[in-house]
Amino acid sequence: MANRWGIPKDVEELIRKRDTSCVYCGISFINSVFSHKTRPTWEHIINDIRINGVDNIAICCGSCNASKGAKLLSDWLNSKYCKTYRITRDNVASVVKEHLSGQ
Ligand SMILES: [Zn+2]
Repeated sequence: MANRWGIPKDVEELIRKRDTSCVYCGISFINSVFSHKTRPTWEHIINDIRINGVDNIAICCGSCNASKGAKLLSDWLNSKYCKTYRITRDNVASVVKEHLSGQ
């Protein structure tokens, strides 16, 4: 049983519990009225939909998701968007940091 993004149900539930705010910019998903930009969206940290584990799937806001697109995480962190919103490898969620260690 997988959702429409191919994410197994048990993985989805773990991630929904873990990521209660955007894993990148930290905007909260709790008790918010969502706009197109702040709505929670599924994100593959490494852009490979075949990597469907809890380590590669996270929830980020629509704004970060649209900005990151198909960019490599390390490249995206150097983008104007990340500079504008002060998103750095030091303040992203730990699930994202895991992917940055060694880079
Ligand atoms: Zn965000």
